[in-house]
Amino acid sequence: MVLVLRYLSGACGRVRGGLSGGFAAACRPAPGRPWPLCQGGRRASTRSFDVVIIGGGIVGLASARALILRHPALSIGVLEKEKDLAVHQTGHNSGVIHSGIYYKPESLKAKLCVQGAALIYEYCNQKGISYKQCGKLIVAVEQEEIPRLQALYERGLQNGVQGLRLIQQEDIKKKEPYCRGLMAIDCPYTGIVDYRQVALSFAQDFQEAGGIVMTSFEVKDIEMAKESPSGSKD
Ligand SMILES: Cc1cc2nc3c(=O)[nH]c(=O)nc-3n(C[C@H](O)[C@H](O)[C@H](O)COP(=O)(O)OP(=O)(O)OC[C@H]3O[C@@H](n4cnc5c(N)ncnc54)[C@H](O)[C@@H]3O)c2cc1C
Repeated sequence: MVLVLRYLSGACGRVRGGLSGGFAAACRPAPGRPWPLCQGGRRASTRSFDVVIIGGGIVGLASARALILRHPALSIGVLEKEKDLAVHQTGHNSGVIHSGIYYKPESLKAKLCVQGAALIYEYCNQKGISYKQCGKLIVAVEQEEIPRLQALYERGLQNGVQGLRLIQQEDIKKKEPYCRGLMAIDCPYTGIVDYRQVALSFAQDFQEAGGIVMTSFEVKDIEMAKESPSGSKD
């Protein structure tokens, strides 16, 4: 889950949450300053950010990283309710770097998936994160599945997926001796990676660029503050 609270534009918000306890009255910001975040507890401390991202999974961490690299002057915080990052869906998926073959041509998903696969390979190479570009076979086992397979192949070509080939029975066997099929799409660009490791590396980049990660911080409430009066510079 990612929510970005912007304090710089007309409207602003504040986040309530923390280890325990609530949002202390002392959290009211000084005039002209962003709303602070408070960590609860007896000795409540306060902290202000320009932007807060809720959720330290791969989406939150990738967003935080991208934002701070583009806007280094912003103070940005990531709030994560667990004591460790990326322990939910990000740490429990199949680890596939999808090639982008399935999505409707010209759709945002198709464009982002194809671009994202290239970027993740590049990022892993830069950071020395292990991955395996093992490829994938999408197999038609019945005659009636062949037209659908061919349509999927055409879709992949339209999406710009690299290296796609339609292969026949003998080539399927050569590639995967235990796989039987009449025809297959050989999709060599598909790979596997440990996405938790990628997410933790995003967190490291984010922190090295000055971002703050607060774990064991569950956001329990979000409030919108009043809009700034028109003409305000806030
Ligand atoms: C079975 C399965 C297999 C998949 N396989 C693949 C695959 O092979 N390849 C692929 O690219 N994608 C795959 N996906 C999709 C991928 O895992 C998700 O798109 C991705 O992990 C989502 O990341 P996220 O950061 O949005 O969510 P999460 O990783 O779940 O992160 C959300 C974070 O928000 C935190 N949070 C929630 N509420 C609060 C709160 N109130 N306060 C503070 N923190 C909070 C949570 O603790 C959590 O850490 C798969 C998904 C599933 C379900």
